[in-house]
Amino acid sequence: MTQPLFLPSDLDVVVIGAGSAGISAARRLLKAGLSVVMLEARARLGGRAHTVVHRQIEHRGGTLEMGLDLGAGWLHSADENVMARIGRAAGFTIDETPPPWRQQAFGIGMSKDEQVAFGEAFDAFDDRVAQAAARGEDGPASDLFKPTDTPEGRWNDRMDAISGALNGAKFADVSTRDYDAYRDTGINWRVGEGYGALVSALGEGLPVVTDCAVTRIDRSGSRLRIETVRGAVEAKAVVLTVPTNLIASEAIRIEPPLPALVEAAAGVPLGLASKVHMTVEGAEDFPGDSQLWGRTDTSQTAGYHLRPFGRPMIEGYFGGDLAWGLEAQGEPAFFDFAVDELVALLGSDFRRRLAPVATSMWGSEDWSRGAYSHCLPGHGGDRLKLKQPVENRIFIAGEATAEAFYGTVHGAWMEGERAALETIAALGLDRWESEPRPTE
Ligand SMILES: Cc1cc2nc3c(=O)[nH]c(=O)nc-3n(C[C@H](O)[C@H](O)[C@H](O)COP(=O)(O)OP(=O)(O)OC[C@H]3O[C@@H](n4cnc5c(N)ncnc54)[C@H](O)[C@@H]3O)c2cc1C
Repeated sequence: MTQPLFLPSDLDVVVIGAGSAGISAARRLLKAGLSVVMLEARARLGGRAHTVVHRQIEHRGGTLEMGLDLGAGWLHSADENVMARIGRAAGFTIDETPPPWRQQAFGIGMSKDEQVAFGEAFDAFDDRVAQAAARGEDGPASDLFKPTDTPEGRWNDRMDAISGALNGAKFADVSTRDYDAYRDTGINWRVGEGYGALVSALGEGLPVVTDCAVTRIDRSGSRLRIETVRGAVEAKAVVLTVPTNLIASEAIRIEPPLPALVEAAAGVPLGLASKVHMTVEGAEDFPGDSQLWGRTDTSQTAGYHLRPFGRPMIEGYFGGDLAWGLEAQGEPAFFDFAVDELVALLGSDFRRRLAPVATSMWGSEDWSRGAYSHCLPGHGGDRLKLKQPVENRIFIAGEATAEAFYGTVHGAWMEGERAALETIAALGLDRWESEPRPTE
């Protein structure tokens, strides 16, 4: 039976969602001396940052214990990424091995010259997007593709495969202005123990009620009434950190309704990216941290990170339409697809060397309904609209409100801080001024 809520009746702030944004908001609010509780629908913290532990017996008899990230794995723009410093301070291992994404191991299915040509074509596309955004254009980013019968245009499908990984959607569904606004320093690191393990550890000890989905926010009274599957609480303010697809579908009903908020969230939907972690026998045949892309002539192909951290594993990464299609077929479809692509590259013998360990299903999970957000064409300004406070007492935060670092853990973290500071100011407190600066 679901336990009813027993919470203080004089709460200052309810934080809805205990992912990166919710945890950082709660930490900052608590530092300011406010009474705060996080309400989290899932049984765990971390949201879309989620590490599962896999233990494998080695042939030498030892046990290999590996934290596998089903969601966020990389500290993007790592040299500017607040989570790198926070992670180190929390005792986590920050691994600076660069990602292999731009390479194709052994040149299989793509020669070195082709890899260079593709890299140049992608950089030229990025430049055209930047120029269009500077001119104030906000159409589909794919409008900046070259015709398919030109040397650059031959790579359009492959660019869409990459867009599936970057945006969770093909470039035709991505706003030029938003894509250009993303800040990427080109440096990417990882957390040895798992990025999800880090995020949930940062939430340890905070006041949180799990298995407690919020269903409704009643803003008709002087205090906000937050209704959950386990009863209702009241608070002066709310920090709302749930993914945009849930705001757009009004999974949490806000009354009186907020059509502008729902509309803004609909302009910044979550695309889909999916992962399958596989064990591979005879992993020593591959260089550690190397990469294979399944095909170069279609967007319906996945990327395979061989031996991440040198482990005897392969991580398959599926984006956009391909990921939605495979999710619709059910979890085993990811592994089957990966095996077919890897066998086509490495020979039929490879099939028996692979076994699935963990597969993500972010698209069908009730509390995410996707992976990370992109702005639709014509909606490049919607992240800003999304984060407008409501009556100075409902504050929206999450990866989707991070205009330069959207789709990331650190973007969500910084937005949680921003929303917390706005809340503190709205409640008439300035105690945070004596605290370390935001994001520190
Ligand atoms: C496959 C994949 C790969 C990724 N790779 C990277 C990467 O390499 N690097 C990177 O930085 N980022 C990556 N990301 C993105 C990153 O995971 C997210 O941007 C970030 O974790 C989002 O944090 P958030 O706090 O905004 O949202 P969330 O983590 O989604 O947190 C929102 C929380 O709200 C809860 N919730 C939802 N509805 C309710 C409700 N009704 N009541 C109460 N609680 C509710 C959810 O359970 C969740 O815990 C990846 C994501 C995926 C899925």
